[in-house]
Amino acid sequence: MISLEHTAHGAAAPAAPTRFLIGRFHEVVLKGGNRWRFVEQARRNLRDCFADCGVRRIRASGPRLIAEIPAGVPDDLVRERAALIFGLQNFTISRPVPLDLEALKREAVAAARTTQATTFRIATRRADKRFPLNSMEIERAVGAAVVAALGLKVNLDYPELIITIEMMSDAAYLAVGKYPGAGGLPVGITGRATVLLSGGIDSPVAAYRMMRRGLHVDFVHFHSHPLVSAASREKAADLAAILTRYESRATLALVPFADVQREIVARTLRPLRVVLYRRFMLRIAGALAQAGRSTALVTGESLGQVASQTLENMTVIEQAASLPVLRPLVGMDKNEIINEARRLGTFETSILPDQDCCSLFVPEHPETKARLAQVTAAEAQFDIDAMVAGAVARTEFMPLEFPPRPASTVR
Ligand code: ATP
Ligand code: MG
Repeated sequence: MISLEHTAHGAAAPAAPTRFLIGRFHEVVLKGGNRWRFVEQARRNLRDCFADCGVRRIRASGPRLIAEIPAGVPDDLVRERAALIFGLQNFTISRPVPLDLEALKREAVAAARTTQATTFRIATRRADKRFPLNSMEIERAVGAAVVAALGLKVNLDYPELIITIEMMSDAAYLAVGKYPGAGGLPVGITGRATVLLSGGIDSPVAAYRMMRRGLHVDFVHFHSHPLVSAASREKAADLAAILTRYESRATLALVPFADVQREIVARTLRPLRVVLYRRFMLRIAGALAQAGRSTALVTGESLGQVASQTLENMTVIEQAASLPVLRPLVGMDKNEIINEARRLGTFETSILPDQDCCSLFVPEHPETKARLAQVTAAEAQFDIDAMVAGAVARTEFMPLEFPPRPASTVR
């Protein structure tokens, strides 16, 4: 691969100019005592996200994470990947420039020349204050050089182009443009959870929201294959693969649910079935979660969205769970969730036709006010532990990795 950038540098530029990915944390989160853990987790996540690019040297400097980009890795790929790293507020692709005003002017002019912008501003930060000029003086001097060389106009409020300069102790780092990061907290910093991932719109968004709060998530999908087609399994696998891009490694557990459903259908009346399915899902997911060291379950439930998501039903369903149930979408309405699914890129997969296992053998108007006594009486007929153990024993585990490793290195 050949670097696509910096061809405008002319003869003075080295053949393969060094580039650095500089990610910036939100400084507020770095104030507490967990700062070291936070930075270390983000560093590991960045390394994993670029595992196939050979990004090795990653260092932290103040509120920044700085990684050298190997020659041959295109800027587009760097931008696409860096946007997946939770914990970063923004990032730049920067080039080191000697700590010298003339060099800075030259590089800023060269950088501005690569763009179509007609207005610009220089944004300088001095991490190292030893440079003789302060930030404003650097901005004035470098800005004047760009105006003189290219005729661009300075616009401090709405520039088309922002050239950022960071004065560090070893060099100045200069970049064109600053990109928004994924925000949130580095995946893994707040623990591990298991997401109940249907093939629907909501649960992938719920997974994304919890990853963004620093949870590393694994996935559990219940399917009724062969009672229905394998479509929901395939959708769940595709959705889990999209979500794994944010955390590099995850497991999708595919649970055959048809036997549990047959048993419920044989012994209970229609209105209660959805509540019973859900209680069994939570039990089975809880068992899988604990085996995978998760300490919470996550669902895509939103209050009142469908019959099974009334407050009464959610309360009764939750009582079957041995772990806390997190419902990040509980207060969102469907349009908000759909918009987020579109941004996340899961929506198109979620709306592909399938048949969710919960739609099997249930009435059009299921119970909306389940009572615990009624539910536990119905469940007294089952050997619950055996049903859960049976489903767990027949679960298939699908390892997911991003970026995908070449076949020869898969562990
Ligand atoms: P979704 O869009 O996530 O399917 P939904 O609005 O269709 O949500 P339900 O079908 O009632 O709502 O599901 C509520 C939650 O239960 C889902 O968000 C998901 O977390 C979980 N769930 C439902 N069906 C399955 C399944 N087949 N496998 C795993 N989890 C499921
Ligand atoms: Mg659903």
